Amino acid sequence: MSDFNWQQGFTNGRFLWIEWHFWKVVGWLGNGIFFSRFFVQWYATEKKKQVVVPQIFWWLSLTGSLMLLCYSISQKDSVFIYAYLFPWIPYLRNIIIHRRHKNAHQDCPACECSCPPKSNFCSACGAKLPPPET
Ligand SMILES: [Zn+2]
Repeated sequence: MSDFNWQQGFTNGRFLWIEWHFWKVVGWLGNGIFFSRFFVQWYATEKKKQVVVPQIFWWLSLTGSLMLLCYSISQKDSVFIYAYLFPWIPYLRNIIIHRRHKNAHQDCPACECSCPPKSNFCSACGAKLPPPET
């Protein structure tokens, strides 16, 4: 059954050729959130001039794919249900690892810049960092 009709773009209850209802909104919002992650990742990479996957990328992946999972369950479509049934596991795992790594960063006492875990000197000002507390 098709919800898309080329002949009826804005008539018979359609907007942008689509017949809208609750699950259609959930599905399209999920689609938009999931798609936006590419621009976020691209922007972060261009800004740093190296391949970067920011933490927000995984949040957008998780949120978008769970919304698409809800939509596919509402549509009882096995292909899309299985497509979105498991990806939340690596998304959630990446969020946890991101958090742990961020928390392991140390603040420089001289310039207050955040330095990578286990570094001995500040990457910004070169000051000696205190040994990590264990
Ligand atoms: Zn510093």
